[in-house]
Amino acid sequence: MTTATTSTYSCEKVTTTFNSLKCKECGTTYEPKAMHVCELCFGPLEVDYDYDAIASKVSRATIEAGPLSIWRYRDFLPVQTDNYIDVGTGMTPLLKANRLAKKLGIKNLYIKNDAINMPTLSFKDRVVSVALSRARELGFNTVACASTGNLANSTAAIAAHAGLDCCVFIPSDLEAGKVLGTVIYAPKVFAVQGNYDQVNRLCSEVANTHGWGFVNINLRPYYSEGSKTLAYETIEQLGWQLPDRVVAPLASGSLFTKIYKGFQEFVKVGLVDEKSVRFSGAQAEGCSPIASAFREGRDFIAPVKPKTIAKSIAIGNPADGVYAIDIARKTNGSIESVTDDEIIEGIKLLAETEGIFTETAGGTTIAVLKKLVEAGKIDPDETTVAYITGNGLKTQEAVQGYVGEPLQIEPKLSSFERALERSQTLERLEWQPVSV
Ligand SMILES: [Zn+2]
Repeated sequence: MTTATTSTYSCEKVTTTFNSLKCKECGTTYEPKAMHVCELCFGPLEVDYDYDAIASKVSRATIEAGPLSIWRYRDFLPVQTDNYIDVGTGMTPLLKANRLAKKLGIKNLYIKNDAINMPTLSFKDRVVSVALSRARELGFNTVACASTGNLANSTAAIAAHAGLDCCVFIPSDLEAGKVLGTVIYAPKVFAVQGNYDQVNRLCSEVANTHGWGFVNINLRPYYSEGSKTLAYETIEQLGWQLPDRVVAPLASGSLFTKIYKGFQEFVKVGLVDEKSVRFSGAQAEGCSPIASAFREGRDFIAPVKPKTIAKSIAIGNPADGVYAIDIARKTNGSIESVTDDEIIEGIKLLAETEGIFTETAGGTTIAVLKKLVEAGKIDPDETTVAYITGNGLKTQEAVQGYVGEPLQIEPKLSSFERALERSQTLERLEWQPVSV
């Protein structure tokens, strides 16, 4: 593997809607290079766009005429050339979830289904498509990531497509599906004996010593911008309108803050009318540092040691936690946590009512949605969008033992009839009203 600092990939600068990175805390600006922390105050850096330039270039019509991927929103993304990596990421369905809504007791529920995002079936394909496009512009030949699984899948796959060398760091106790779904693309994979926060710390050191482009470390300002496309697509798919409420999972908190930013940007450039949107965040109780801080009215995150089946969102020291809390507070939303049992119920509920098999993060989102409805915090008439961020086939261990099994029969009609009758009897018994 080579350490590249100079570009072997030449591409002409076409249009630029951003020229710098800006500190989220003190406002200091920097050249848009591979860096993520302010040198003066250690605040996180964000991409600083020229919204007047965007507004003069972009309309609903130009977006609708664009590719059927996240790149239809190219002017809102941090790339400076048109040589971005388009593997068909984005434009996932926004499904009107009538059966789930009825079961919960609300009327206007939508599922934004990134369980079928391309190419690796999670929302991470959005952030990685953007990060690797920018990595290539910045001249990196080797890209890397610290991952709880989905990011590893995505970085390895999109790097393979783009012909970039790839190095992936994961905790050693990940689900088998996520490990296989990474090694198949033949990156170098390091299974670290530690939790995600330890993996992340190690990667920060590697990024400093090897000069690689870590998508979620030194490329983080670019990477995180990819999540905004979930907001843009939601607006477009709702017929150029904002929803009333968002329910989304919280890991680092970045996704949550970027959906908020995406909504604001479309308002700012006049693509959609302003409206207040309530933001509700979902965490697993076994790793809920953001939910705890919200509940206790704190402005800081007390890191925790994760212990939950929802491994893809098990970040004990979430980088954007305080910003997520701020958004939940100022939009009159909330941040809730649910138990592992409730997460499994959430996965099953979404599968049985809408035909979508999500992973544990999605189960967390649905369980929190249910909790909010039951607590009367969601008005039945609100237009609510729940974000399903990953696919259940990757985390089959989580539901094994909690779902039904096939009826074993001989290849004979009589055997089939007996089994059918038995199953119907069992169903009737299960559904008998309980007398008190
Ligand atoms: Zn600063």
